[in-house]
Amino acid sequence: MIMAETTSPAPPIASRVEHIFPTLTSAQMARISAHGRVRQMRPAEVLVEQGDSGVPFFVVKAGELEIVQPSGPTEILVTKHGPGQFTGEVNMISGRRSLVRMRASQPGELIELSREQMLALVQADSELSEILMRAFILRRVELIAHGMGDVVLVGSSHTAGTLRIKEFLMRNGHPYSYIDLDRDADVQGLLDRFQIAAADIPVTICRGSVVLRNPTNQEIADCLGFNDAIEQTHVRDLVVIGAGPSGLAAAVYGASEGLDVLVLETTSPGGQAGSSSKIENYLGFPTGISGQDLAGRAYNQAQKFGAQMMITRAARGLSCERKPYAIEAHNGATI
Ligand SMILES: Cc1cc2nc3c(=O)[nH]c(=O)nc-3n(C[C@H](O)[C@H](O)[C@H](O)COP(=O)(O)OP(=O)(O)OC[C@H]3O[C@@H](n4cnc5c(N)ncnc54)[C@H](O)[C@@H]3O)c2cc1C
Repeated sequence: MIMAETTSPAPPIASRVEHIFPTLTSAQMARISAHGRVRQMRPAEVLVEQGDSGVPFFVVKAGELEIVQPSGPTEILVTKHGPGQFTGEVNMISGRRSLVRMRASQPGELIELSREQMLALVQADSELSEILMRAFILRRVELIAHGMGDVVLVGSSHTAGTLRIKEFLMRNGHPYSYIDLDRDADVQGLLDRFQIAAADIPVTICRGSVVLRNPTNQEIADCLGFNDAIEQTHVRDLVVIGAGPSGLAAAVYGASEGLDVLVLETTSPGGQAGSSSKIENYLGFPTGISGQDLAGRAYNQAQKFGAQMMITRAARGLSCERKPYAIEAHNGATI
């Protein structure tokens, strides 16, 4: 049953539409089908709820899927997927929680792959890998550009905490919407609804329900489930400390050679390079690249090969007395 009325249109996405929402050929769909299963969908069936983890990958064979973002009592329509189109954005590779709700707007048939099956597909099929990865990354870029995430930041550009949280979300490539206490006229209604006092800011509201007052980066990461999909207890082939350029390179090369890789990062991928507006001397980029772009590319590349990234998890100690070696994280966990 549809609980909320979809009131707002999707923000216009004028350029690159064919790359953001490509339509697969029947031959490509047949190759995807071989990795998963075919299932039916009923009208109004909610296949994925915002905040769900372990989200499957769907390709529409027949019918229509609508992708919406819950927004208070209403919804914002993000897009609709018809036959040959597929779901997912960058969270599909990282395994993080869904930013959107996926609902059948027409009855139909889907190809369903688990995230693991989808990762196996992109690692084995270079043509589909290019189409899917490009679409996932461009969709995330659009979500960031339109502030369509699962968290609202209420703050003031005069407070250091607000700037810290903005930087944390931005450098982690996480879409958010921002409400400025000093500039947005209709902020009072929101403050009243969530019982937020001006002195509480910065405040984050996760998935429209969890209110965090002046949260640490780790509290935000935990609330948004940045690390939920990561199994912390099993023994890894390679643990990388730090997701700067060298850590990300180690993760890409390790994971692409088939190693089971985990990266621990204190704040966000990119390290020092993440704050560089233009790096001119990085191999393979003759016109230069911003540190943020470089980090984002390497981060997605590492995750495509299956490397996992734990954010806001600093390593505090290394224990090599016996095997397997262990790393002590700052929260007392042993990896
Ligand atoms: C503004 C700026 C511009 C630059 N421009 C250029 C340039 O144009 N060309 C160039 O060659 N170089 C440039 N550099 C230098 C370049 O960015 C660094 O040499 C490069 O980032 C080093 O990479 P790294 O991965 O070794 O370390 P870092 O970039 O320092 O990354 C280390 C990472 O490890 C994390 N970390 C640290 N301790 C822990 C822990 N205990 N547990 C978990 N994670 C941890 C940090 O948060 C960080 O993300 C620039 C640097 C800056 C600051």
